[in-house]
This record gives sequence, structure tokens and C-alpha cells, in this order.
Amino acid sequence: MNIQAIEVVRDHDMGRRPVGCRLCGSRLRHTLVDLGMSPPCESFLRADQLDHMELYYPLNVLVCDTCYLVQLKEYISAETIFSEYAYFSSFSTSWVAHAKAYCESVTKRLGLGADSFVVELASNDGYLLQHFLPLGVPVLGVEPAANVAQAAVDKGVPTRVDFFGVRLALQMVSEGLRADLIVGNNVLAQVPDLNDFVAGMKILLKPEGVVTLEFPHIERLMAENQFDTIYHEHFSYFSLLTIELMASRHGLRVIDVEELPTHGGSLRVYLANEDSSWSVNDRVAKLLDREKRHGLTEMATYASFGEKAQRAKRDLLAFLISAKSEGKRICGYGAPGKGNTLLNYCAIGTDFLDFTVDRNPYKHGRFTPGMHIPIKPIEAVDHAKPDYILILPWNLKDEIIKQMHHVAAWGAKFVVPIPFVAVIDPSELSR
Ligand SMILES: [Zn+2]
Repeated sequence: MNIQAIEVVRDHDMGRRPVGCRLCGSRLRHTLVDLGMSPPCESFLRADQLDHMELYYPLNVLVCDTCYLVQLKEYISAETIFSEYAYFSSFSTSWVAHAKAYCESVTKRLGLGADSFVVELASNDGYLLQHFLPLGVPVLGVEPAANVAQAAVDKGVPTRVDFFGVRLALQMVSEGLRADLIVGNNVLAQVPDLNDFVAGMKILLKPEGVVTLEFPHIERLMAENQFDTIYHEHFSYFSLLTIELMASRHGLRVIDVEELPTHGGSLRVYLANEDSSWSVNDRVAKLLDREKRHGLTEMATYASFGEKAQRAKRDLLAFLISAKSEGKRICGYGAPGKGNTLLNYCAIGTDFLDFTVDRNPYKHGRFTPGMHIPIKPIEAVDHAKPDYILILPWNLKDEIIKQMHHVAAWGAKFVVPIPFVAVIDPSELSR
């Protein structure tokens, strides 16, 4: 190998080569926000791992000026993240209820029955497909994590352990499988090769079949300053503008869109074959118009987001510094993935938060990645009686404040970090 070749290899290893857009291949020249270096947000540590080295990766989010896809490079491979996934969708009762309502409405809308075939991509533990079984609609799940897929099979939901793309779609078609409905909920962000994934859906879809996809809406993420929902496991962030371009690249078109409150504001889009008989709902053009009015085709709009994140960091740190200077004691509530982006970006360690608490027993006795904040059971709050409780899963703040209302007894207050620092005194709220 000559010196020039070595230079090229080194450049590639350092990730400094110009990168192409995951969807359209254009050169990426614009940054949405640079949140610095962070460890993967789900790598909680045991006590014996605290003096080991941790892997940190850049959280530098880029935006494409051609298709507007907001994206991270795939620093951590999808195989590493998803082959043994610890997240079981059925743990969240509100999410299962959301899935049930969807199954019932889409069955009516598409007229699905015993002759239909529904495929869900990243079907997790069968939290969604299980609701088609009592409706008599045949289903198949595709799920890469074997441990999670097994939970689906135990519920009676047929599931294939595999990654979805053109390869698997061709294999399924050769077995005589074609779908009337393909469902992808919160999977698009985690797909490293978007074009392969969408091309696979096109292959698997019947001529009059429909695809529905749900994903957090980048418009809401930016409007509500949800920078902490950015983490390494999410490679892509979408507007409807991007989805429309993505669909048209693959002979599909957007026929309808709905706005949902889930995950801080999501979209559910309906796609069909370009030459199918489906007509396009007016909602599509309306939302595309709104996104344009909100500047989602202008790079300046994206560039202004970085300052919003920096201001949120300064405001949160200013609050914490002043509280600590007054001798106040502060703990966290929750240890979600988004909390770890926030804690690492703001460098909030045990110098500010004595500990955090979480309902998930797996996390008890462990420490948050990077900032090493100990995670305890919920009761630890009652023993410590802190002055302030910083709510990390801010999307659940109403539910948490209701459950923890009793902390008013010793004068504790809640702090919500996003979209801006807000202090909530539970004694001023009615129960
Ligand atoms: Zn692009």
C-alpha cells in the first residue's frame, strides 16, 4: 500500500470524507445541530464498568439541501443495535392502545378480511399485529431481534427473524407472499439503507396495496426544540416533503397523511403505487404547503436550530448552577434515551443530580452512559426528599407530576427542561 492509499483509508476511518445523503446521494454540506460526542444512549453501565473506557460517537446532525432529509451518519451499525433489542413495545400500555385503534380503523378503511395479508416491518413483540388476529386478518411480522420476535410468536403472531429490504422482499414474493397492507411504525428512522428498504416495500406490495408509516415529524422536533430526541439509534428525521421525494423515487406516492400526538408529534403517511386507483387526500397538499411556509425548504431554517439547542443548554445550566449555589438538592426522574442526550450535551453529572429514578427494574443499580448518574427505584425520591426533581421524559410530564404529587408535602418542585426550563410547584396544581 502506498502512502496515498494509506491517507485515503485513514480519512475514511476518521469519517472525514465528504458524505452523501442516505436518500438521494447529494453531498451533505449543512449542519442542523452539533450536540458533540456522546455514548450510545441505551448503554447503561453496571458498577463494575464505571472505570472502563466508554465509546463516544459524534452527534453531528446534517441536513440535505436536495431532499431535506435530516440525518446522522451510521456510526453504530443497525445490526449492533437491533440484534438483541431490550425494548418490548408491549411495556407501554398507551402505545398498545394506540396500535389497537389503528388496526381497527385501517381494517375498515381498506376493507381487510380473511383473504388479505398484512406485513409489519420491525414488528417487535407483536404489540400491533396481535390486534388483527381477532379481526380474522392474516398477518406476518418481520423483526430482526430474535428475543423480541419470540415474544410475538408466543402471542400467536407469525414472525420472521430478519432485516427487511429488497433481498427479503424478493424471497417473500417467490414464496407467493404479497401484501395488502405494509405497516412500519417508528422503524424508518432506524433503517440504514432507506432506498433498499423502500424498494423492498414496493416489491412486496400488491398493485392496490397500501403502506402506512409512522415517524416523529421533524417540523415538531424543530418547533418544540426536542433536540434531546436525537440519538445514535435514529439515523434519519423526516418531513412530509422528504417522504414525498422518497416515495416518488420508488414508484410510490403519498395518498394521505395524519398528524398524531405520539413521540412529541408524529406523522402517519399512507403510500400506494403510483399507477394504483387510490386518489390523494387534500390533507397531503395542505401539510406540504405548511412545511414550506415554515421554511423546511430553506437551509437557513435548519441552521437556526443549533442556537435554540445551545440556548436551552445555557438556560438549564444557569438554573442548576444557581440552585446548587443556594444549597438545593436536585434529583432526576426517569432514565430514557433522550435523557442521556440531554445530560451528555449539557454535561450534567452527579455535581448537579444526586441520582435519578426509573420504573424499569433493569436500570436499577446501573448508571447513565457518559455522565454516570446512579439510577434507583422511584421510592428513593421519598427517602432523599430533594428540593427539585428534573423530569427527563418531558413528554410524560403530566402523568409523572400526577403520580408524584405527594412531593409537595416537603416543598419539592418539578423542573421540565424542554422546550425551555419551566419550574412547576405541585402545591399550586389541583390533584
Ligand atoms: Zn438528500
